[in-house]
Parts: sequence; C-alpha cells; structure tokens
Amino acid sequence: MKLATTLRDPAELVAHGLAPAVDLADLKEVASRYAVAVTPDIAALIDSNDPADPIARQFIPSMEELSVEGSENADPIGDHAHSPVAGIVHRYPDRVLLKLVHVCAVYCRFCFRREMVGPGKDSALSDTAYAAALDYIRAHKEIWEVILTGGDPLMLSPRRLAQVMTDLARIEHVRIIRIHTRVPVADPSRISDDMVSALKVAGATVWVALHANHARELTAKARASVARLVDAGIPMVSQSVLLHGVNDSAAVLEELMRTFVECRIKPYYLHHGDLAPGTAHLRTTLGKGQALMRALRGRVSGLCQPEYVLDIPGGAGKSPVGPSYLAAENSSGNERDADTETRYRIVDYCGEVHLYPPKS
Ligand code: SF4
Repeated sequence: MKLATTLRDPAELVAHGLAPAVDLADLKEVASRYAVAVTPDIAALIDSNDPADPIARQFIPSMEELSVEGSENADPIGDHAHSPVAGIVHRYPDRVLLKLVHVCAVYCRFCFRREMVGPGKDSALSDTAYAAALDYIRAHKEIWEVILTGGDPLMLSPRRLAQVMTDLARIEHVRIIRIHTRVPVADPSRISDDMVSALKVAGATVWVALHANHARELTAKARASVARLVDAGIPMVSQSVLLHGVNDSAAVLEELMRTFVECRIKPYYLHHGDLAPGTAHLRTTLGKGQALMRALRGRVSGLCQPEYVLDIPGGAGKSPVGPSYLAAENSSGNERDADTETRYRIVDYCGEVHLYPPKS
C-alpha cells in the first residue's frame, strides 16, 4: 500500500513494518542526531521481508549509526574550511557549491553532510546571505560553474528556483549551473512542468546530476521524471556512492550503470564512502572498490563507466582512485619515469598484460 505522507519518526517506521519494534529506543536516539525521512515512493520500494534490502539500508536508520569511529568527522570533506561566505564552498578555482537549503526529500544514512542537513540543523540561506553569496560569485570572475547542492535544491519551489536560476544566469562568467538532486527518485512527482520550466534558463547551460545507488530506485515514475528533464533538453549525469550491502557487487553496479544509460543519464561519479560519523557499516575498502571497477570494465562499455573517486578528508578535493591499467618500464622490466620509458605494460579487461612500444 502506498503511504500518504513522508515518514519522519522511528515510531512511524515501526508502525509501518519498516523497522523492528525491538530497536525503537535506539532508533529514536539515532533520529535525535541525524534526520530521518522516507517518502511514500521510497517506502513502496522497500521489501520489509528482506532484512538486507538495499533500499532500506540506505534510508531506514540503524543502531550501527550510534558507533562512531575515530577517523570519522562531522565535516568529512572540509566544506567549512573552504567556505568564504555563508552558503558558498569554493574548493576549486573555476567552480563553487551554492548551498541554498538544508533539507532533503529523504535522508540517506551515509550522507557526508548528515551533521548539516535536516530539520534543526543549519537553516536555509537568508535573503541577506543569499545576496552576499551572489556578490561573491559576481566578484570572482574565474567561477565558470555553480553547483547547487545542499540539502536538495529541488526542494525549493519552482518559483524560488526560477529566481535563483535567473540570478545566476545573469552573471556573465557563470556559464554552467549544475544541480545535484535525489528528488527524481525520492519524490518524482515534484518534477512537474513548472519545475522543469524553472530549470530552463536563458544565459547558462543547466546540467542535472541524479544521485541513485541501486537500479530499483529507477522506478517507472522515476524514469518518467528523468525523461521530462532530458526531453526538455537538460543533460543529465549520475552520482552514486559505493555502499556495503547496497551496491558493492559487480552485478548490482552493472545493472545500475546500464539503467542510468537507458534513462539517458551518463554515469559520472562512483564515490567512495566518506568518513561521516556512524557510517562505517556502509563503507567498503578502497581495494574492494578498485576490484569492482576492474570487474565493471569487463562487463559494460565505456558509456556505462563512472569514475571512482575519493573526496580527500579535510577538503583537498576529489581524486580518482580507480585501478591503473598502464605502467611504463625499461627493457629490463623495471618501472621508470614516464619520460624515459622504453615500453609500456597495459592490462586488458580480462587482466591479461600486453606490451606497447614507446614512441620512436
Ligand atoms: S539527498 Fe544528498 S544531501 Fe540529502 S541526505 Fe541524501 S546524500 Fe545527503
């Protein structure tokens, strides 16, 4: 049965059979630290008879979130260290994050901003802070791309979003506006005609990055919401998080990436799980991630390949951490500097090593 409203309280999750009653006290403690929201569309996807359901694992709070490891951090990728004014994160020269809201349709149990998003955490940007953020972007002519993230920017009303898009597109050096969202899968009916119109703005190119981690999230309704965006001429990319028990198998990743491409979404990032508090049970090792990327290379075309990336703790930015397929060596077989190599060793998708000659 489809629910009428979003569930936000562990007692409601228990009442709807989405969490065990015996865990209620612990889940209330988890919910007092980290926001909970399960939309009707997501609740309908959960198989409550499966204790390892990969959708439930992403959205239903668990007692394991109460265990915080020493390496985990409230601001794992260093947003605060790179925030010159409220709402802006300026980590790379040519782009900024603009965080307008701190609410989402759903709250993901692995979220790296879990200490910042949700009711009672940071609040939405005030009008004054928003004006200051725009001033900052105007003053920094090197900013080519503005990435709306947060919180989920598609939680804004179409009217407000249209105003933001217009404000940004009026800044001459801002050529790209990228929107990171989970709404098309978490609450697809929000992608209304008005929302699509709000995103289409003259003066800048708009991209939408969809966050989804399992092919089951791309329901018929979700696919229809994605099609509305793409049919309107808005190109889309994906971002996913590699999550233990959700998508840490080659078959699940293969299906997810094929599904993105079938929906006209180019796979973009597969993030290694960030060191957010209480999320160790959802992280894999980097070695496992690399092995999965190698396996994916053998199973799907380049069109379906995401880049496996790690946000370096503290704020140094993203680095690709996928496996390497190329090594330079001299004629005796030792690795050497790339400028002085005599030949290359290159690994094919089956793991076989081949030699490639140097440029003469
Ligand atoms: S939708 Fe994004 S910002 Fe919101 S909880 Fe999920 S990962 Fe975090």
